[in-house]
Amino acid sequence: MRIVAVVGSGTMGSGIAQVCAQTGWKTRLYDAFPDSLEKGMNSIGEFWKGGIARGKNTEEQINEWSSKLIACENLEEALSGVDLVIEAVPEKIDLKRSIFQKIEELAPENAILATNTSGLRISEIASAVKNPERVIGMHFFNPVPVMKLLEVIKHDLSSDGTINQVIQIGREMGKTTIVVRDVPGFATSRLGVVLGNEAIRMLAEGVASANDIDTAMKLGYRHPMGPLELSDLVGLDVRRDILNNLADSFDDPSYLPHPLLVRLVESGELGKKTGRGIYNWSKDGKSEREDL
Ligand code: NAD
Repeated sequence: MRIVAVVGSGTMGSGIAQVCAQTGWKTRLYDAFPDSLEKGMNSIGEFWKGGIARGKNTEEQINEWSSKLIACENLEEALSGVDLVIEAVPEKIDLKRSIFQKIEELAPENAILATNTSGLRISEIASAVKNPERVIGMHFFNPVPVMKLLEVIKHDLSSDGTINQVIQIGREMGKTTIVVRDVPGFATSRLGVVLGNEAIRMLAEGVASANDIDTAMKLGYRHPMGPLELSDLVGLDVRRDILNNLADSFDDPSYLPHPLLVRLVESGELGKKTGRGIYNWSKDGKSEREDL
């Protein structure tokens, strides 16, 4: 049985830890902030309860999964004896590099060190540690328990052993893996954020309402979700950070986040997670804002 630590218990970390526990692995969920850790554990509990209510899961299953999952407020405890660490802290290169240095100090030497970054260079994160060959990108999608894709990102020094093990790990988690080179934005984020940013530009220019822009892509191009609602679901702060990173990495200002996106993030309107973003969000779903 694998022992896995997930570092960062936000939107992604909690979903990743949930799937690891459901896979039957001993899973430790760590966060630097006790409130965030509690929130992450609660969101997993809610998801599981919802599964029982919808008749998708049984009490026995939930008890079994819960027994695999531990919340850790101490990083050393979280990392002791692990085979795999998946980092899911905010998309800031300096933060990720410093966390990887701590992880390297505390995790066993043979553990795989994976990052769930949406668009930072894996090589830049890997260069913070002494054995970069065990560092790899494991890019999951939101919500992790539902989304089938796992984008595996290999940098020039990732060993074949690391790549092959992570493909196997993805398979065990029930994901379909694709393997991508370490280029900014990989295969998914680059296309996804550009579409979202352009949709925000169109909204700001008054091309159409948010709902109509989303409907255009859903019905015209068979996207399961519109680019604006998806941006709200992912988190506008996350999207802004990815766009800034792409603009920096490619040295191309056309990737810069649209001023409307920047304004929303600066006013704390981050999308679904704060109840307000491009749309207003409530327990009944989303509604158009009149003030954008
Ligand atoms: P989030 O803000 O929801 O969660 C980040 C968590 O990290 C928070 O709980 C925070 O308390 C914690 N944290 C902050 N500093 C920490 C530290 N020093 N040590 C431990 N924990 C710390 O963010 P998220 O949306 O879960 O994104 C996490 C990563 O996943 C980012 O790199 C993001 O780009 C990537 N990602 C996000 C999505 C998405 O849809 N949200 C999808 C794929 C990848």
